[in-house]
Amino acid sequence: MNQKVIKKLVDIVGREFVSTHKEERFFYSRDGGTMEPYLPDVVVLPENSEQISKILCLANENKIPVYCMGAGLTLSGLHRPIKGGILLDIKRMDKILEVNEKSRYVVVEAGVSQGKLQAYLKKNYPHLKHSMPDAPPAATIGGNIAIHGSGHLSFLGGFHSDMVTGLEVVLANGKIMRTGSCSVSNNWFAKAPLPDLSGLFLGWFATTGIITKIGLKLYPAHSLSDVRVLVCEDPDLMSELIYRITDVHIAEDVITWMTPKPLWAKGFLHCNVIYGAKTKKELIFKRDLLFEQVREFIDKKVAGFLPLLPFMKKRFLDVPGKDLVRFADANKGGGFEYVGAMIPSNLFPDAYRIGLEVAEKNRVTYSLGSRIIGNNHCMMFFYAYAFNRADKDDIKKAQNALYETNIKILELGGIPWKAEIPAQKEILKRMDKNTKTLLFKIKNLMDPNHIMSPGNWED
Ligand SMILES: Cc1cc2nc3c(=O)[nH]c(=O)nc-3n(C[C@H](O)[C@H](O)[C@H](O)COP(=O)(O)OP(=O)(O)OC[C@H]3O[C@@H](n4cnc5c(N)ncnc54)[C@H](O)[C@@H]3O)c2cc1C
Repeated sequence: MNQKVIKKLVDIVGREFVSTHKEERFFYSRDGGTMEPYLPDVVVLPENSEQISKILCLANENKIPVYCMGAGLTLSGLHRPIKGGILLDIKRMDKILEVNEKSRYVVVEAGVSQGKLQAYLKKNYPHLKHSMPDAPPAATIGGNIAIHGSGHLSFLGGFHSDMVTGLEVVLANGKIMRTGSCSVSNNWFAKAPLPDLSGLFLGWFATTGIITKIGLKLYPAHSLSDVRVLVCEDPDLMSELIYRITDVHIAEDVITWMTPKPLWAKGFLHCNVIYGAKTKKELIFKRDLLFEQVREFIDKKVAGFLPLLPFMKKRFLDVPGKDLVRFADANKGGGFEYVGAMIPSNLFPDAYRIGLEVAEKNRVTYSLGSRIIGNNHCMMFFYAYAFNRADKDDIKKAQNALYETNIKILELGGIPWKAEIPAQKEILKRMDKNTKTLLFKIKNLMDPNHIMSPGNWED
């Protein structure tokens, strides 16, 4: 890259926050998944929106691609600078700016990590919490909402992007703008009642702007919590059971999981129902209500709750949950990638069978599961395939399994989540023609020089 540009970047953020070192560029070129690496020309760590604005003006002038990374943990390689250029690492933007306790929302910079916000709330507002994904705690709030993430309060509140109350964004032309109530007043309470411009940035993978501040909903943190794990063998029955469980609004989080390891779990479909309460009486009431919802199936002996001692419950109540991370070590070589598929909840049995079929055909170790979103309106079904990072053939096998899963999900009527670039192309192929035309027009309007995350959401 032109030395004059590097010098200007140094002028904007300071020498210690610009790097062209090969080792550092290597680190930013990849993530833990199966997608091939691409080196950025330069890595830049801005401290605030004004610096990002200057960087984007400079990039536009010189037609340099700009990519943005939070923690780089999607596993689908979404931050990879596939056309080189500038890689913006936004982790220095990690201030928690405001907590509105009574209105239950927080305003944070986009680089605040999930772990930092969780720890901050536990310490300063123990009666409030935000919805944590099961990603490692280093994952950023910005990166997660940018991909429509979900987490342990998603049954209550929907996708994490649904929990956004407002955004500050730097546009490709360097202009800093806001969406939601904070664009009119100093309060970040809601996206309504205005035309919802946050939709121009959520799910776009940094192709329309860099999100710099976020208003996010908070929820009551109950002093007590419990989990019940329902088990059955029939995927069609599981679909009905989930429907019954979610018919009473007691849960905070409802997760299903199916995995061949450990052996005792093989062949069974599990559903964790996690709920909180202020008192023991409320907790027991919720447990009994849940039992009544599925009693008919338990009496018929086609489903049942796992007997769990208190110490056994901990692994299911941990936030973030660690089971997916443990799965990375299921095989030698510590690698795994997962495809998430957004599906309507009634497609659960088909989605499950797809996972088994693809895993068997490609001979990959699998872990399947789903998180119920927004009162069972839909679910994020995940297909995780383990691979050995040191074995190219094994990586290829996992890649094939992921690609096949994405295609089958699209055929089923679902949509791949945090789609890798090949899957983005498959989604666009199937998208309504007029919707696609509008999508590209918006992209061109917002980024006429095509500098923002080029390669993503492109035909
Ligand atoms: C073990 C494991 C478990 C996981 N469990 C979950 C889960 O339960 N729920 C879940 O939602 N995810 C989960 N994930 C996926 C992923 O790690 C998370 O979604 C994570 O929050 C992504 O954040 P990040 O900071 O790593 O984003 P990155 O990977 O850095 O970025 C993601 C995308 O957003 C863009 N982006 C990043 N920051 C910005 C910004 N400020 N403005 C505009 N665009 C931006 C990037 O360019 C990229 O396209 C899991 C991952 C792992 C490894």
